[in-house]
Amino acid sequence: MIRFEQVGKVYPDGTRAVDGLSFEVERGELVTLVGPSGCGKTTTMMMVNRLIEPTSGRILVDGEDVSGIDPVQLRRRIGYVIQQAGLFPHRTVLDNTATVPLLVGWKRARARERAAELLDLVGLDPKTYGPRYPAQLSGGQRQRVGVARALAADPPVLLMDEPFGAVDPVVREHLQNQFLALQARVGKTVLLVTHDIEEAVRMGDRMAVFGQGRIEQYDTPGAVLGAP
Ligand code: ADP
Ligand code: ADP
Repeated sequence: MIRFEQVGKVYPDGTRAVDGLSFEVERGELVTLVGPSGCGKTTTMMMVNRLIEPTSGRILVDGEDVSGIDPVQLRRRIGYVIQQAGLFPHRTVLDNTATVPLLVGWKRARARERAAELLDLVGLDPKTYGPRYPAQLSGGQRQRVGVARALAADPPVLLMDEPFGAVDPVVREHLQNQFLALQARVGKTVLLVTHDIEEAVRMGDRMAVFGQGRIEQYDTPGAVLGAP
C-alpha cells in the first residue's frame, strides 16, 4: 500500500535526515515509526503526503508514485493528524472537521453532514461539540477532532505525527484505546510517528525502529522486544 524505495532526504542546509530507506506497509496495517528525536521519523512520514519532497528514491501509494499526484488530490487520499490537532481556532469544530471535503469541492451541506458523522464516530456528540470552537474543548477532545478531520474524506491512508503526545498519560491511554477500536472498524493503512516506545509497542502491527536517518529494525512488536 505504501512503498519506500531507496528514499533519501538531504535538507538545503546539508542535513542528511534520512538515507536509503526501503520498506513497505501493507493495506490495513498500522506501522509505528519510533526512535529518539531527530532521527528522521517526521521527515519520513511527511514525504508520503508531499509536505516534504525526497531528494532521492521514490514513494508509491497503491502503486502510484506520489511525486506525480497533485497535493490537493493527495489530501483526499491521505489523512493527516498532527500533535495538538492543529485545528483552526476561528472555525467551529464542525467546520474544522469538514476542512478537507470542502477543500476538494464537496457542497457545504454534504460536507457538514459528513463532519457530523465523523464527530460521532470519534465519540463527540455533533450537536453539543460541533458548534464549539477548539479553545472550548479539552486537549483530548481536540485530538479526537483532529482524527475526525483526517478521516472526513475517507482516505485509505492516515498519517499521524505524535497524535497523543500533548495530553496527560491517563487521557493518552484512553485516546490510544479509542483509536485502536476505531481503527478496528475503519481499517486504514496508518503510519504513526512516536518517540514513546510503549505507544509504539501497544499500537503497532509492526514497528519501524529508527536510528540516525535509517530504519534499524522493522518487525512486529513481539519480535522487536524479543530481539537480543
Ligand atoms: P524526528 O521526527 O525523528 O524527530 P526529523 O525528521 O524531524 O526527526 O528530523 C531529522 C533531521 O533532520 C534532524 O537532524 C533535524 O534537525 C533535521 N531537519 C528537520 N527539518 C529540517 C529542515 N527544515 N531543515 C534542516 N534540517 C532539518
Ligand atoms: P493552512 O493554510 O493553515 O496551512 P491548510 O488548509 O493547508 O492549512 O491545511 C489544513 C489542514 O490539512 C492542516 O492542518 C493539516 O492537518 C492538513 N494538511 C495539510 N496539508 C496536507 C496534506 N498534504 N495532506 C494531508 N493533510 C494535509
